[in-house]
Parts: sequence; structure tokens; C-alpha cells
Amino acid sequence: MQTDIEIAQSVEIKPITEIATAAGLQANEIEPYGYDKAKIKLDPSIVRKQELGKLILVTSINPTPAGEGKSTVTVGLADALSLADKKTMIALREPSLGPVMGLKGGATGGGFAQVVPMADINLHFTGDFHALTSAHDTLAALLDNSIHQGNPLNIDPRRILWKRVVDINDRELRHVTVGLGGPTSGVPREDGFDITVASELMAILTLSTDLMDMKERIKRIVVGYTYSKEPVTVADLGVAGALTVLLKDAIKPNLVQTLVHTPAIIHGGPFANIAQGTNSILATKTALKLADYVVTEAGFGADLGGEKFLDIKVPLLGKTPDTIVIVATVRALKHHGGVALANLNNEDVMALKNGLENLGQHLTAMNRYGVPVLVAINRFTSDTEAELQVIKDYVQQFGATAYTTEVWAKGGAGAQELATAVIKKSAQETDFTPLYQADDSAIDKLNTIVQTIYGGDGVELSTKAQKQLQDFEKYGWDKLPIIMAKTQYSFTDDAKKLGAPKDFKIHIREFVPKLGAGFLVALTGNIMTMPGLPKHPAALDIDVDENGTITGLF
Ligand code: ADP
Repeated sequence: MQTDIEIAQSVEIKPITEIATAAGLQANEIEPYGYDKAKIKLDPSIVRKQELGKLILVTSINPTPAGEGKSTVTVGLADALSLADKKTMIALREPSLGPVMGLKGGATGGGFAQVVPMADINLHFTGDFHALTSAHDTLAALLDNSIHQGNPLNIDPRRILWKRVVDINDRELRHVTVGLGGPTSGVPREDGFDITVASELMAILTLSTDLMDMKERIKRIVVGYTYSKEPVTVADLGVAGALTVLLKDAIKPNLVQTLVHTPAIIHGGPFANIAQGTNSILATKTALKLADYVVTEAGFGADLGGEKFLDIKVPLLGKTPDTIVIVATVRALKHHGGVALANLNNEDVMALKNGLENLGQHLTAMNRYGVPVLVAINRFTSDTEAELQVIKDYVQQFGATAYTTEVWAKGGAGAQELATAVIKKSAQETDFTPLYQADDSAIDKLNTIVQTIYGGDGVELSTKAQKQLQDFEKYGWDKLPIIMAKTQYSFTDDAKKLGAPKDFKIHIREFVPKLGAGFLVALTGNIMTMPGLPKHPAALDIDVDENGTITGLF
């Protein structure tokens, strides 16, 4: 059996100029990065149609190590729509190097449903993450320099919010002390690193509607507080212009292609467990202006990426999805039903039935938005017909239909039934109902997310979080939308509680105000904004030979 990278290396990649033309872009609207990648210029005149295309949001059940294959289904569904002669584009997130070198699995799909050049996309791509890392750490340096040079803004070094970032899973850097070495080496203070995808600049890049909007958002970033506990912003430091310059190319969406040349825009990459988990507004908008069908993906399960797409991204995008596709696998549902990873290849209808509640809660959560919801079963070779039928029967009580997809094995040909259903559903009128109103209090918003989306009882705030909300009221930040930072593995804040638990509270230990992005991040349970590496990092299996051929990437 061929690996993902072997399949990706075996296809003929078309020149990116040809893909751009097929997508409806003119030669002067792209900036080629070599042969097979390009940036799309930020040009509001790029509109080839009267109406925006149909938007298909792909999300999933809670992930397990057994695998769900959301990106794979996203790519396969888009190829199936292309096969059905629909003008289709993909809008995906960029992979982060942390997980690429850590846990096995990138973000370019798998099998015969992939975007290419997969190695480039999974590694340095067009340099967007490096630009973000540079811009983020430049701000950190400028902030410390301001304190070192007499501290004209009266910044309290014990109350700095702006950490440093690096796009590596490096737990050693979670807590560090900086400024050691005497008076010439800065002011000593406690600091820490997050992974680049958790940077507020990443959130800003993905939520900005143009370059000037990005600059205004950067100005609003709160980097810390003064000794009298007044917020200090990037505008106060006077460096928004410099940071925007560092990101002027990163803000442009990247164009690539699938194995069968469906155009794909891949741009921005916040994780859905610690940030908003969706690709950029500019990428999705550009695709909607060019294609009749746009297939996009939000990170992790519908409780994280799905909810954030619908509640944070949709209002800024100005377009609601026309269909939501929830990806599920027999293997993951059996794992939710209690089967150990080692036994997932054996048929086990009882365990599958036990695990189905996880899919049920996601269906309930997504159904409430007033957009048609479909289920895509991403078929693995070990799945039996009996197991597939159990899922199909179960979802009917939620008014949904489940379609078996075999895109990993067959590419677009493996999702024709799903594509037909998506076309039909997307033609229906939607009646989008937001989860909460903008002027609901933070507590109301939090409780609504937990009760309606997770199936829990509500939130419990630490003393620190309660105190923070009081302060936020004073600053006028208490009505901002909420980004839950929660484990992706469970509806609860405890990764070990699989299935669809009931009677639980979500514990909020701390809020992080992100004024540039325009939301409050609620850190729940023991979620970390800097991941660690596993016992057997993927890096141990990655190699390159004398011809430059990469192996073991996936
Ligand atoms: P997600 O987007 O949910 O994180 P991906 O689509 O990135 O998942 O897939 C993760 C990995 O699982 C990839 O390496 C892919 O090749 C593999 N995979 C996905 N679907 C299947 C399948 N049906 N059979 C076997 N492997 C699969």
C-alpha cells in the first residue's frame, strides 16, 4: 500500500498558473511562488460571479487516535463536486510544524484525497508561519525594549500578556525567565512561549478583511497592563505599522491544487482547541467569489472548530454555510464506545452503538443553527457493512442522512453520493440562527456554549477568572465573543471522558483578552497553549535521500 507522500509524489502537478486560470484568476492577480504555489493578490475586484458560491462546512465528531479524516473528506468531497462538473474550490488551513514533527498526521488530506505539493505545504509552504513568528517575537522584543529604555508607558513587567511564540511543540519553553545577565541585558521577568498558531497575530491574520483592517486590529492588541492596571496596547507602543509590514505577504491567500487539480486555497492555521480553528476570511471569501461550491474545514470536532466557525467567523465573513457535513468513522465511534485502540479492526456493533451518542450530540448541536446537516462516514478498510448500517440507521432520528465515503481509497469517485446530497441540500433555503446575541454577558455566552453545544450543565469559574470578568467589565470587554480553549477529545474539559457525558461543568481557570482578534479566550481544564511532543515523535520516521525525496512525512 502506498503512503500519503508516495501517492502525492506520484502524480503530475500542473503549473500553478494553469490552476489559477482554471479558477478564474487573471495572470496579474497572482504572485507565483515557484512552479506549484502562488499567493493571490488582495484585490477586491476579484469577483467573477453575481452571487457568492455555496459554502460547505466540514466538521466532525470528537477526534480520537483512531482517526476521523476531516481534511481527507474535505478534499475528496471537493474533487467529487468537480467530477460532477461543479466549479469548486477548497479553503483549508495551513499545517503547523509542531504537529507535523510531533503526532503523525498533517493537514493535507490522505490517500487519493490530498492537496499538493504536500511536503511543501506541511513544511515551510510560502513562509506565512515564519512571518507570523517573526512579527510576534518582534513585538515581544519591542515591548521588553520599551521597559528597558526607561519604561515610558509605565508597564508592569509582572502583568505582561504578550508571550513569545515558536512553531514547534516545545514544552520546555512553557515557562521561562528572560532578561537575566545584569542591567545591559534587560529587565528580568517571568515569560513563556506559545505555539505560533496560538498567537493573536494568527487570529488577526485569519479574521482580517484587508490590510488596513489587519493594521487596525494589530493596534488594538493588549500587550499588558501598567502599574495602575490600565491596559497597554500596540498603538501605545507605536509599532503597528512595522508589524503590519512584516505580515504584508502572509495576509495574501495561498493557491495550490488537489491530486486531480481542483484549486485549493490554503491560508492561516489557528488550532481549534486553543484559538478559532478556521482558515482566513480572505481565503474563504476569495473562493466564494470565484467558485460555485466552496468546501472548507474547521478544526477538531463540531464542538470546537464547528462552533467557532459559526459563531466567530460567520458574522465577519457575512455568509453562512449552506450545508454542514459531520465526518465520523466507525473506528472512532467504537473507541468512544469503549473499544481499545488495538481492537478497532474487529467488528463490534455493541460498542459502536455505545459510541454513537458522541455523533448524536454533535448532530443536535449543529442542527440548531438552521443549516442542513449531513453525515459523511469516512470508510476504513476494516469497517463492516453491518457497522456502516448501524450509523445510517442511528442518524435518521436527527433528521440526517449518513453517506459512506471512500475518498481515501478512490478520490472524488468515492464521494459521489455525498456530493449529490450536498448539491441538493445546498439549494435549500437556510434559516441561520446564531448561538448567542452580541450583547449577552460573558457568563451567558459561556453557559449557552456548554449547555447547547457540549450537552453539559454550565461553567464554573476559578476565583481568578471571576476577578478578571469584573476587570473586563471596567474596560468594556465583557461582551466580547468567547473562544473556548478546551481539549478536543471530549465534550468536557477532561480528555478521558469520551462519548457524550452528561451532568458536567466546564471549569474556566483563566481568560486571555484578545482585543485585536476581538474575543476573550477562556482557558478550560488543563489545556496548554504550547503542546509537547509524544514519546515517539513523527520526526523519528522522517528522512530525505540524496535525490531530495522525502520519506516518512506521512
Ligand atoms: P483530520 O483532518 O480529521 O485531522 P486527516 O484527513 O488529516 O484527519 O487524516 C489523518 C490521517 O488519517 C491521514 O494520514 C490520512 O491518510 C489518514 N486517513 C484518513 N482517512 C482514512 C481512511 N479512510 N483510511 C485510512 N487512512 C485514512
